[in-house]
Amino acid sequence: MAYLKLLNIEKVYPNGTKAVENISFEVSEGEFVVLVGPSGCGKTTILRMIAGLEDVSQGEIYLDNKIINDLSPKDRNIGMVFQNYALYPHLTVFENLAFPLQIQKFKKNQIKSNVEKIAELLKINDCLDKKPKELSGGQRQRVALGRALIRQPRILLFDEPLSNLDAKLRVEMRTEITKLHRTLNAISIYVTHDQIEAMTMATKIIILNNGKIQQIGTPDEIYNLPKNKFVASFVGSTPINFFDCQLLEYNNFRASFALANGDIINILAKHELPERFTLAIRPENLFILKTQNINSIKGKVVNIENLGYEKNIYFEYGKLLYSCKTNIENSININDEIYFSLLEDKLLFYNEQGELIY
Ligand code: ATP
Repeated sequence: MAYLKLLNIEKVYPNGTKAVENISFEVSEGEFVVLVGPSGCGKTTILRMIAGLEDVSQGEIYLDNKIINDLSPKDRNIGMVFQNYALYPHLTVFENLAFPLQIQKFKKNQIKSNVEKIAELLKINDCLDKKPKELSGGQRQRVALGRALIRQPRILLFDEPLSNLDAKLRVEMRTEITKLHRTLNAISIYVTHDQIEAMTMATKIIILNNGKIQQIGTPDEIYNLPKNKFVASFVGSTPINFFDCQLLEYNNFRASFALANGDIINILAKHELPERFTLAIRPENLFILKTQNINSIKGKVVNIENLGYEKNIYFEYGKLLYSCKTNIENSININDEIYFSLLEDKLLFYNEQGELIY
């Protein structure tokens, strides 16, 4: 099976900026890998090195068993889709799609049939005679996709291709792109800073920060078992909750600890916990209680976001802001003081270095 592998890749730009270091990962045919992280973490640099548009300072890029560090971009059989569609404004959609094949000296009738096939696949066959300026944003992005796909590349690289589209179109195009990827069984690598795109599209997510890989895993692994506090807080549309804790007692898998404002929690703990640690819990794993209970905390509601199917309740606890998701009908109001319980088997624990204990 075809694969792309990056081994200990480092990039230092001529001005001395070290953009990425120690980057190693592998992508097999059929995998849809999403590189995600905040602005400046090195996502585009990695993509451009794979495409051959940027030199590699150290390390190797393999395609199957061959090192391709010095292979020119045109010999890498790569299709790239960018955030700005980069279509030729003076050419029609047909001519834009035909362009990569004309360069490769395909015959006229073969170009026509390939263009028609890709236009059919991308549902832009009604637009073939139009110029880019006559198209909607979604149609333009489809043409850009078509132009990248028409040569049937083995590797597809996407650099934030949906960020210029409105929210509804983004959701539609997410599905279109992942469907296309499955049809082509390509090696796809997709760059975004949008963790929702990462979670919904990827078979494998690579989370980056400051030029380094923080975690590689399936969306479920990344969401449910974030390896460090950065990953935990980066993933999740409503932020994960962190509580500073002081261990009071650990004995035979029972732990007792105090939260910052003195509340005491008793749980069954799988591992010994250090004296100081951070407890993390996702908002959907906090439950609203009618009355005080064991392991409950009392917070003051400061904001309610009503999403129709559920509500995000933001509350203050020990001067910090926390969140809870609920889809149970209730009459909670701003300034209410209510009790929340923490779902014990969903708790995550991080040491003082921010690394996952369990
Ligand atoms: P964004 O999401 O904002 O596009 P990114 O994660 O794609 O960011 P890169 O564009 O790869 O990040 O940039 C990584 C680091 O390298 C940044 O510190 C950036 O300033 C730097 N950088 C990028 N291109 C160059 C360049 N040509 N010369 C010098 N430094 C560069």
